[in-house]
Amino acid sequence: MDANNKRKLIILGSGPAGLAAALYAARAELKPIVLSGMFLHGQAATTSIIENYPGFPDGVGGEELGQLFQKQAEHFGAEIIYDQAVSLDLASNPFKIDTYAESYYTDAIIIATGADPKKLNVPGEKDFTGRGVSYCATCDGAFFKQKKVVVVGGGDSALEEALFLTRFADSVTIIHRRDELRAGPILEKRARNNAKIHFLWNSVVTEIIGENFVNAVRIKNVKLQQEELLPIDGVFIFIGNTPNSQLFEGKLVLDDKGYIKVDHLMQTSVPGVFAAGEIADPHFRQVITSAGMGAAAAIQSVHYLESLE
Ligand code: NAP
Repeated sequence: MDANNKRKLIILGSGPAGLAAALYAARAELKPIVLSGMFLHGQAATTSIIENYPGFPDGVGGEELGQLFQKQAEHFGAEIIYDQAVSLDLASNPFKIDTYAESYYTDAIIIATGADPKKLNVPGEKDFTGRGVSYCATCDGAFFKQKKVVVVGGGDSALEEALFLTRFADSVTIIHRRDELRAGPILEKRARNNAKIHFLWNSVVTEIIGENFVNAVRIKNVKLQQEELLPIDGVFIFIGNTPNSQLFEGKLVLDDKGYIKVDHLMQTSVPGVFAAGEIADPHFRQVITSAGMGAAAAIQSVHYLESLE
């Protein structure tokens, strides 16, 4: 074992849960390293504006908040490494983590690998991803100036991102499979009052069509069982998330949807392995709850490490 690669605590994931855990662990002088994962600052960084994180009365951009979290954790000595765990050995302590670049050994782990956007799984979706199909309005919205786009989904994300897209697009049509939104009333009111936003109720996208770039979607009205072709320039999909837990299958106890099961101390089924944020939370999934879980996991990991001494 290379002593340079032996740590007390390694955190997987650099979203709100991972970076809050890093801040707390760094302040406890554990010198944690954070393996950033594929997306630095996690999914929250793809949110255009976050209006419900306390301390920012005018809202804050998702990416800006991620950078602030990182700066604060680094200030106290956390080290962010732009790499990703590809396999784990949790059978004996110290645990072993292999990344693309290195092998690490660690006494404790906090898993904060979050979740990825769910796919529609319809023909054309994969082919046109990056060519008109997107899961991130903040990243891609500006490419759709004066264009027509559709947003699929009826939750908070769909409405929030549809509102953001009205900054660029001429028209934003929200396609929802029911006739009632899942999103909260504030966002619903804003969307209904926005002249650029239109709704297509009881409808699902069955195919995404184009040549080099998307130019239409096939839509089915699930009540009337009728299909129509809607000419558009872009498809933004916000239909919920899937936990990034493939790496932990067979190693930790997961629930039936793949979320890591934790107790109220953020402990997983393996002592010394903690989980925080959306990977362990199918219910709240907020920046503030994820950050809170990250802090709790770090505090508990300090107690765990003390118990080993
Ligand atoms: P969500 O609340 O799970 O909503 C997913 C939406 O997509 C639902 O309307 C669902 O329809 C629809 N859907 C799911 N699978 C579909 C499919 N295969 N085809 C078509 N439509 C499908 O996900 P989310 O909007 O990403 O929100 C995730 C969590 O983050 C929630 O807890 C939300 O409150 C929170 N969030 C909060 C804010 C905020 O507070 N400002 C912003 C963003 C997210 P049904 O309604 O019919 O199930």
